[in-house]
Amino acid sequence: MNWYTEEWSKECRFSIAYDEKLHGEKSKYQEIEFYKGKEFGTFFTLDGLMMVNEKDEFIYHEMIVHPAFATNPGIKRVLIIGGGDGGTAREVLRYKTVEEVVMVEIDERVFRLCQKYLPVTASGVEEDPRMTLKFEDGLAYVKNTKEASFDLILVDSTDPISVGEGLFTTDFYNECYRVLTDEGILINQHESPYFSAYRENMKKAHKKIKAIFPITNVYQYHIPTYPSGHWLFGFASKKYDPLQHLNPIRWNEFDIRTKYYNTDLHRGAFCLPNYVKEGLSDEE
Ligand code: SAM
Repeated sequence: MNWYTEEWSKECRFSIAYDEKLHGEKSKYQEIEFYKGKEFGTFFTLDGLMMVNEKDEFIYHEMIVHPAFATNPGIKRVLIIGGGDGGTAREVLRYKTVEEVVMVEIDERVFRLCQKYLPVTASGVEEDPRMTLKFEDGLAYVKNTKEASFDLILVDSTDPISVGEGLFTTDFYNECYRVLTDEGILINQHESPYFSAYRENMKKAHKKIKAIFPITNVYQYHIPTYPSGHWLFGFASKKYDPLQHLNPIRWNEFDIRTKYYNTDLHRGAFCLPNYVKEGLSDEE
């Protein structure tokens, strides 16, 4: 039995058995490794950290996409920053009402390797005529994008380390604000409230976003292979409140079959534990 092990904190490790290491390479940006096991199927890591696996990817990719569409069913133009495995794009492309999706992933090798080893998330994405793929830095891209270009920005990034750092800055969030229309919604990978390093990242990101967007909220989901299994997305908006403007009837009319998200769970996801609310408040 071979074991992939990730350090969740100095005194806590998470291991997954695998039968075969499918591929490993160092791209211009990061170490990319693909493994295949029984419990979680094929999975890949970036710089040794779990990114996506066949078994629980649906949780993350449904939860980063559907709450925004259930809040503003009129979303037409979507920008994805990061998301190199293709899972976020796959969920967005399920909306026939979406007219354009731009995915800005800094590392083309991630996408190409996912097309080969992780078709569950990457296949069909590039072939969709509404899709534009750009292999460049997301911060540079938004800086060079004209204002009011997108209704939705999904920041599907790695953690705020190495290349991902720029996607957790005030500069980046300000540019996202400018590039969003007046109906704009920003969803960002908002780290986790449990282990201290991720909790610090969560607090810093929330503080920066709250200073820019009039409506900000945080929602949770449970994904076994991310540190502590309790993970968050940020929901920031110029106009729409994710609970006041939730439109279950309209979302159900899209007739999109999901394995995790539904509009009842939508409400529950925004009901955070006290220790999470305290971490997000300015007091702590
Ligand atoms: N779901 C995963 C998670 O929560 O950690 C992340 C999915 S995806 C693999 C993250 C992607 O963000 C990676 O492919 C990485 O190359 C990309 N990325 C990191 N920094 C970036 C940047 N500055 N611009 C664009 N993409 C970036």
